[in-house]
Amino acid sequence: MKNTIAIVGRPNVGKSTLFNRLVGQRKAIMDDESGVTRDRHYGYGDWTGKYYTVIDTGGYVHNSDDIFEGEINKQVKLAIDEADVVLFMVDAMAGVHSLDEEFANVLRRYQGKKPIYIVANKADTNARIHTSGEFYALGVGDGEIFPISSASGSGTGDLLDMVVSHF
Ligand code: GDP
Ligand code: MG
Repeated sequence: MKNTIAIVGRPNVGKSTLFNRLVGQRKAIMDDESGVTRDRHYGYGDWTGKYYTVIDTGGYVHNSDDIFEGEINKQVKLAIDEADVVLFMVDAMAGVHSLDEEFANVLRRYQGKKPIYIVANKADTNARIHTSGEFYALGVGDGEIFPISSASGSGTGDLLDMVVSHF
């Protein structure tokens, strides 16, 4: 699929919330939800006249911190195989989490193969926007970190501008 964005990251950082926001009205035509065991969801959207597909790689069964190395590898591999741009989501409210480091270690193997951006979600306040630089310590990603609030939508315009510049 052309112009594909994948969202990866540990459970509860807000991947599905961003997915729903990026898909917007087009959620109605995304893949059916028949299998709750499915580990991905596809949706469609557009930004500044560019159409994209977005994949929520997070799964709908893991909504706690019981995520395993195999699951991380699977999520990342799916993202790298299918996406043109990978969004690595972290939680600006929680700060750096050990599972973020595990994701970063796997993602780093693919650095340079696909553009990877760290997205610091739950940056609902200026304070959290300013501290989101702490995620540079993860040592992965193509330069910029995008602080966003998937809940309010703030920061998502700048993020999408960068994403669609690759399309
Ligand atoms: P996922 O497991 O990564 O898909 O995370 P979800 O999208 O299910 O969100 C996990 C929790 O974080 C939910 O309770 C969301 O309402 C909350 N959440 C998502 N985005 C934001 C945000 O921008 N700010 C805040 N404060 N909470 C958020
Ligand atoms: Mg989810």
